[in-house]
Amino acid sequence: MPRIIQLPPTVVNQIAAGEVIERPASVVKELLENSIDAGSKRVDIELEQGGTERIAIFDDGCGIAPEDLPLALSSHATSKLRNADDLFAIRSLGFRGEALASIGSVARVTIQSRTHDSEAGAMIECNGGDMAPVRPWNGSPGTRIEVKHLFYNLPVRKKFLKANATELGHITESFTKIALGHPAIHLTLKHNARTIYDVPAEASIADRIGIFFGKDVAKQLYPLKHVQGPVNVHGFIADPACDRGNGKLQYLFLNGRWIRDRSLGHALQEAYRGLLMTGRYCIGFLFLEMPVEMVDINVHPTKAEVRFRDSQALYHLVRSAVRQTLSDKQLIPRLQLPEGDRYPMPPAKLDTPPDPGLFNSPRQTVSEGTIAPWESRSFEPMPRYLPPPPASDRTFTQPIDKQPQPSPMDPLPEIPQSKPVILSSKAIQIRDSYLVLETTEGMMLIDQHALHERILYEQLRKRIRSGSLEIQRLLIPEPIELPAAQAAMVLEAHEELKDLGWEISDFGGGTILLSSYPAMLKRGTPGEWFLGVVDTLMTKEKLPSREALFNDMLATMACKAAVKAGDPLTPEEISYLMELRDMADDSHHCPHGRPTSLLFSHKDLEKQFRRI
Ligand code: ADP
Ligand code: MG
Repeated sequence: MPRIIQLPPTVVNQIAAGEVIERPASVVKELLENSIDAGSKRVDIELEQGGTERIAIFDDGCGIAPEDLPLALSSHATSKLRNADDLFAIRSLGFRGEALASIGSVARVTIQSRTHDSEAGAMIECNGGDMAPVRPWNGSPGTRIEVKHLFYNLPVRKKFLKANATELGHITESFTKIALGHPAIHLTLKHNARTIYDVPAEASIADRIGIFFGKDVAKQLYPLKHVQGPVNVHGFIADPACDRGNGKLQYLFLNGRWIRDRSLGHALQEAYRGLLMTGRYCIGFLFLEMPVEMVDINVHPTKAEVRFRDSQALYHLVRSAVRQTLSDKQLIPRLQLPEGDRYPMPPAKLDTPPDPGLFNSPRQTVSEGTIAPWESRSFEPMPRYLPPPPASDRTFTQPIDKQPQPSPMDPLPEIPQSKPVILSSKAIQIRDSYLVLETTEGMMLIDQHALHERILYEQLRKRIRSGSLEIQRLLIPEPIELPAAQAAMVLEAHEELKDLGWEISDFGGGTILLSSYPAMLKRGTPGEWFLGVVDTLMTKEKLPSREALFNDMLATMACKAAVKAGDPLTPEEISYLMELRDMADDSHHCPHGRPTSLLFSHKDLEKQFRRI
């Protein structure tokens, strides 16, 4: 066996650098955080070749005393911490005292600094961990740090770096996070002498969102503010119409520090439930402020993750803050009409073809009467079924919290919405799929399938919550054969299924015995129905949370039972549907988040016909 040796400090630092300094963006992050901790009002950053050749940072912060320069570059040397107790009351971004030492061990670093109360400054150089003596330096108060040739002494790590454009992308991401977390500081970023960002001190968080993510995003934001005891959350969330295919525009900050937190990310996304289609993500910039004692920052090498003392309470705070903000807004999707100046008055020609840009809303697939791919199958002629309102359904209008039964789901506050009152009983059905109605607010277009689906979803959910779901027992249990792995997964969810009215037991060999089903499912056979629910289960990569599973299965059941696009409705059925609509909590979105109705307001009509 080789002998054990104590590693030399340079190697120790290089190992430490492996954790914190992964790429140029990590250097920029650490340097920028130091400048902010130093109380700077303005910080300028210059980069060359994606930061791989040169990163220079200039700040007007407190500066470093000449005698402290070698310490700044030593590991475990910091001005931000005095003892172990301080670890639990950290107000600065840094505190471990290892960033500069790490950077100094894997690059060529020059630090020039002068404190505000001293006549002259000093400088120090460090190449791959070798520190040169401190020399006098004459410059204005503040600190300048230049980092050249990152990983020059670690060719293997250098090889892992990506194209300059990619590295620059990572840097702008770090820059963005810090600039959003620290408004009131003037920040600039230059790459190869070209200014990429110049964020003035006066730029508010909203302005900064506009700078980094574009005016289109900034325009769609709703401000949010919620205080609960010593904790407050503020920031911005976007209209559900402004959704995204991934969660990249979900930013979370804790006391100015960007953090990653799966639970709070989930809380944000949860608050949009029912307003977004499956697989779509909301946009949100949330800033949590709380006393430092309520959180442990010291759990992750780059401090990107933290540990909250009461993460559950925070989850609920975030979710209800976002939900409340959404509920304060009118969430009826409106047809987005072109602004007058973008679409100049067409010449008075009778044969003007219809302007394809007239309904330029992203929701136009639904409004225009085209059938989205997921609905095309429903064109098959199908017997339709609108369940008559059973007497017990009158309990639907009772608030959920008055229900005595414990809920199988975590109750989510419903979004109360203003409902335009339907005026005329003469509804027009278009393509046997859409209904046109006159309301107090204007013309309303309704997607009959989406609306009915929503209504059934709510009915099912309320019946389940109140324990009044009618269950139909099968005289002889129906055997359902499934591939063994599927059967196992379905059996694992047997409790959730039971809550939904499906009682199953294991018959062995991949066969499941179905002994009851929800009575409201009248068309088709219970076995077919059940397979639909199994499908929902199988589309999940892993067993989803009980709540998510529940909602998905409810949505599937509602979808299957609802009238389809292409089903002609009688006037009685239409007015019955409208009656049910009035009782719904959220009649504006189907359970998958698609709109059920679009409002074409009186004002929109007048604008379009150039009356105003
Ligand atoms: P930490 O930030 O965890 O303390 P660093 O290695 O990043 O550790 O920095 C070491 C020390 O150097 C800091 O504690 C601080 O005193 C000093 N320092 C670094 N950058 C600056 C700066 N831009 N202005 C003033 N002091 C700085
Ligand atoms: Mg630091």
